[in-house]
Amino acid sequence: MEITFAGKRALVTGAGKGIGRATALALARSRAEVTAVTRTQADLDSLLLECPSIKPVCVDLADWDATDAALKDLGPVDLLVNNAACAPLQSFLEVTPEKFDMSFNINVKAALHVAQIVARGMKARGSGGSIVNISSQASQCALKDHAVYCATKAALDMLTKVMALELGPYQVRVNSVNPTVVMTKMGKMNWSDPEKAKAMTSRIPMGKFAEVEDVVNSILFLLSDKSAMTNGVTLPVDGGFLVC
Ligand code: NDP
Repeated sequence: MEITFAGKRALVTGAGKGIGRATALALARSRAEVTAVTRTQADLDSLLLECPSIKPVCVDLADWDATDAALKDLGPVDLLVNNAACAPLQSFLEVTPEKFDMSFNINVKAALHVAQIVARGMKARGSGGSIVNISSQASQCALKDHAVYCATKAALDMLTKVMALELGPYQVRVNSVNPTVVMTKMGKMNWSDPEKAKAMTSRIPMGKFAEVEDVVNSILFLLSDKSAMTNGVTLPVDGGFLVC
């Protein structure tokens, strides 16, 4: 199945590392005009060395006003990938207000905010669009020490559904992908302990973690016209983890 995004304008958040970076590069290879948003300038510099056509925006998306300022000259966007997130693990009894606010600010509030900015333009132009929120298997299954992360991703799943409901009439589709562990910077931080990793892979019917490309391929499918009638789904990319 060949997917081309020629003539489409895409925005990817958290495009400095991991899944977001790979998604931005894959979209550019598929001929989209890509805007990459992240907060570490060095990551944008190296991304541009790899793909000079990408337009960089450096901002901390947890800062609502700074995001408005950074995206004020964004121009039309047809495809949005809300990918930026953090996953600081704490046991439930040790959750701090700082980590709680930081997590909800980036994982939920920033996704809502960037989608508002983009979807207002989509509605005004009447040309439709596709938004993919990067959620997690953790939205639907309790994981030890993941109380806040699980709660942010559960919130994101429901945000995805309400956005699908309200934006559908404008031919803007909104879906999420919900991966299992991927060994990016975030994945390595939380799943490098072999015993912990083994306990997780033993619960995944396919017996392994996902690769970055597995997630990117599902994102591209949901962004593309190949999923033209798919709206409001949360698509697991988890080797079957969520069936158990
Ligand atoms: P990484 O930590 O590897 O990359 C996250 C990217 O988001 C980085 O470029 C990071 O920048 C950026 N980012 C984080 N916070 C902000 C912010 N406040 N403003 C702007 N940019 C920000 O994560 P992954 O690639 O692993 O994760 C991507 C998505 O996939 C996330 O939504 C995550 O929750 C989800 N996911 C990941 C899984 C995994 O096991 N890896 C499993 C399931 C879901 P910087 O490095 O400068 O902070």
